Amino acid sequence: MSSSVFDIIKRPILIAGPCSVETEEQFLNTAKRLHEAGNADILRGGIWKPRTRPDSFEGVGAKGLPWMVTAKEMTGIPITTEVAKARHVELCLEFGIDVLWIGARTTVNPFAVQEIADALRGTNIPVLVKNPINPDLGLWLGAIERLEKSGLTQIGAIHRGFSNYSESYYRNRPNWQIPIAFRDARPDLPMVCDPSHICGRRDTLYEVSQTAMDLNFDGLMVESHENPDEAWSDAAQQITPEVLHDLINSIVVREEEFKDKHLLADLRNNIDQLDDQIIRLLADRMNLALEVGKTKKQQNITILDEERWRNIKDKYKKEGLALGLTDKFLDKLVRQIHLESIAKQSQHFLKKED
Ligand code: PEP
Ligand code: MN
Repeated sequence: MSSSVFDIIKRPILIAGPCSVETEEQFLNTAKRLHEAGNADILRGGIWKPRTRPDSFEGVGAKGLPWMVTAKEMTGIPITTEVAKARHVELCLEFGIDVLWIGARTTVNPFAVQEIADALRGTNIPVLVKNPINPDLGLWLGAIERLEKSGLTQIGAIHRGFSNYSESYYRNRPNWQIPIAFRDARPDLPMVCDPSHICGRRDTLYEVSQTAMDLNFDGLMVESHENPDEAWSDAAQQITPEVLHDLINSIVVREEEFKDKHLLADLRNNIDQLDDQIIRLLADRMNLALEVGKTKKQQNITILDEERWRNIKDKYKKEGLALGLTDKFLDKLVRQIHLESIAKQSQHFLKKED
């Protein structure tokens, strides 16, 4: 990404601040303490809050924008807030908000994203796009493409997890395979993780933040409030600036590249060779299954021999467990091999000529 707000900032980038801007005093105090703690690269604060149910606090609205600007003047830290419609964009541009973000409940709606993209045409303000609330990679990518079609080039992604119906350990399940797939599709875009909305509680923030760093995310967006228990929204997941400071300092940021590149190349080379063998062995095994199918058809016996299948399964599992493979992995692997083998064998039963 060229001349991006991200270029000037270290990795991992930290976006921190309260879920909602509540009062001038609350935002300035939080900003001051974040500044003193020394980790925040961008100050966040929700001005317009998309709440799931009505009658919750829906944000202070435009009157909070000058408070954010004061916080920036006081601390020198750039500011960011969520926009959900054209009017929000206009007001943010008017007040000089540095970075915008599109929330999960907006990314899900192409009409709303298009309205924002239209309002942004002709500007090049950095915009971060949260994943949609449902696990749909296409919607996430599509929202970014709409912004790009408006000429924006400073775009990043925020992974904030995916909502679930049943009670869960997470407020929003991380489904890490989706941000990983996002990375595959758009390796050119920075991606930060929002552990606050994934966790919904304070005590699991560390483990999710560390996982994000281990998966090579570019940074974190964490909700931080001067007095978390009294927060007007998302109280359970917010932490003080000082607790955030300790959390950030306890995270291990791993190197993206191996220091000893030869060591990595050797290991990968060995893995590639083993993978080659695995594929060949599986192909040989399935060819044998095809032969078995032919013989079974000639002798007119059923494909599924339950006793043999049970024996194979037990044998594989015993051997695999002894070699350090996990029960879950072996279960899936053995089942897949068996299913494919049955499919191969049945090819002969479907053919008339044998
Ligand atoms: C937020 O960041 O406060 C917010 C509303 O997040 P999300 O869109 O991820 O729910
Ligand atoms: Mn929030």
